[in-house]
Amino acid sequence: MGNNQQPYVYVPGSLYDTRNEMKSFTESLFRLNQLIHMRLEAGYIRHERMNEWVVLGRWVTDSCGNFGKISGDFIPAEKIPDLPPIMTMGELWAQIKFAGLDPDRCNLQWGMNSEVPPENIVCPECGKPWTIYDCHDTVVRRHADVWEHYHHTCNRAKVSRVAQAEFAKVFEDAGYGKVLLTAVPNQYCQCDYCAPWFEIQTAAGEIVIGWRKRVINIQVSVGFRVGLEALFADEDVTKGRNYIHAWGYDKATEYLRIIKRSSVRIP
Ligand SMILES: [Zn+2]
Ligand SMILES: [Zn+2]
Repeated sequence: MGNNQQPYVYVPGSLYDTRNEMKSFTESLFRLNQLIHMRLEAGYIRHERMNEWVVLGRWVTDSCGNFGKISGDFIPAEKIPDLPPIMTMGELWAQIKFAGLDPDRCNLQWGMNSEVPPENIVCPECGKPWTIYDCHDTVVRRHADVWEHYHHTCNRAKVSRVAQAEFAKVFEDAGYGKVLLTAVPNQYCQCDYCAPWFEIQTAAGEIVIGWRKRVINIQVSVGFRVGLEALFADEDVTKGRNYIHAWGYDKATEYLRIIKRSSVRIP
């Protein structure tokens, strides 16, 4: 990484830091990746000081080599049509005003990473590669030391399928047989990495199950005869009349087995 004490240098007219040259890097995914790498090298290895640019209305380059993807509710390319591919921050704010948007409600935020996929990979879920037109549509996941890129909808499908299979097994192991799991919104976190929750109809009533940080939240409908607080009096975990938090799949299986045994309705 070189010497951190080395002063920053400004190299005027460089390929990767002037408007017209940069524009030509936005014409293909291959070129965009080149631009990202060139700026990274310039900033982190040669300690060049660069300009801040807004690229394709979806990324912000900073002065030291990062190429950050804009996230959150306000993504300029999605709110303002026909933005110039390369803009200064000042020019973006002028465009925002020109488009009649309230600048106070355009909360611009971006991270350190571009999350742009390499041009030669495919999404593991659908098998399709990316192009310059959809290379912002990525969720990056770490899988055994490798970074994997997925399309947003593909990531959702995978996360949901994996969780569904795991919870189906929990119910089966707990003696419920093969149950139908209906995905419902995760009531705790709606980020890209968190799985949905699932609703299951059992003979005794409805159960909702899903991850909540590091515990599995098990929620029973009010129709259940026994309160979980009383049923699990000896378990030192967060619980209430209609819910209990299980530390992992084994505990969830154990709790569901006990719930099943205790909730048989009196005819
Ligand atoms: Zn995909
Ligand atoms: Zn989350």
